[in-house]
Amino acid sequence: MAKPKKPAKKSKAENKTKLKDEPLVLQTLRGMKDVLPENQPYWDQVRRVSERLARDYGFSRLDTPIVEYTNLYVRSIGEGTDIVDKEMYSFVTRGGDKVSLRPELTAGNCRSYIQHGMNVLPKPVKIFSTGPVYRYDRPQEGRYREHYQINYDAFGEQDPILDAQVIQIAHRLIQTLGIKLVQIQVNSIGCPACRRDYKELLINYLESKKAKLCQDCKKRMETNPLRVLDCKEDKCAQVAAAAPQSVDHLCDDCRTHFKTLLEYLDELDLPYAINPHLVRGLDYYTKTVFEILPISEEEKKNSAD
Ligand SMILES: [Zn+2]
Ligand SMILES: [Zn+2]
Repeated sequence: MAKPKKPAKKSKAENKTKLKDEPLVLQTLRGMKDVLPENQPYWDQVRRVSERLARDYGFSRLDTPIVEYTNLYVRSIGEGTDIVDKEMYSFVTRGGDKVSLRPELTAGNCRSYIQHGMNVLPKPVKIFSTGPVYRYDRPQEGRYREHYQINYDAFGEQDPILDAQVIQIAHRLIQTLGIKLVQIQVNSIGCPACRRDYKELLINYLESKKAKLCQDCKKRMETNPLRVLDCKEDKCAQVAAAAPQSVDHLCDDCRTHFKTLLEYLDELDLPYAINPHLVRGLDYYTKTVFEILPISEEEKKNSAD
């Protein structure tokens, strides 16, 4: 967990003098930016398209606060993830509560779902949410510390048709915004039961290749071995290429779920490829994971063959 800053021990008066004497910086914080009037039409378009899709597919909008108890994120996203260990904006309020700016939307949605007894509603309960999230990430990787996410969450039902539907929504969203050449990559990372066995297998394999891994991955092996598979370092990618794959070690339930999902994607005519190295390290993720990537005209031809 990111350590909240120790409250300063100085008196209030001392603090005031100090802040006042600091030079005034007329600039956004690193990794954050203004959305200027001339750029608003683009943002409006994204909002319009995403809200229309939510309506079309029966998702109701939910807005939750930007600040929640830190513990909510630690418990749901999990220790050992970059988000919780390094990237949260955490602080202690004047009342002594440990809180964080939200690093993603789903944890708050789940909190709200339980707090307001939405579990008694007809299933699935489909929730649409959008807004800023905050991660203390390295801005040189082209990521913003304040950025915006669009979420389509379905609660209370496990049917793979819901996974197919969310993939279809994401695909439509991107296509409607004018990005036509894309490929959907899918994978299954299993459920807590089959993932436990797979993780063990993966750790044994990684242990045998430990010398070839980067420093970060040596640590990840202990805390979050799945993340080694999507490390961007060349040497780690080589190790990952020969690693055991989660799709080969799914339990019966997860295997049927994945197989049915792929059948739905075929029926919906969605252009997908299975990417066995596609993983997500958050603790609450199970089964289907997907990503949509831009591709070239040539890549499209090849994948159609
Ligand atoms: Zn399973
Ligand atoms: Zn690595």
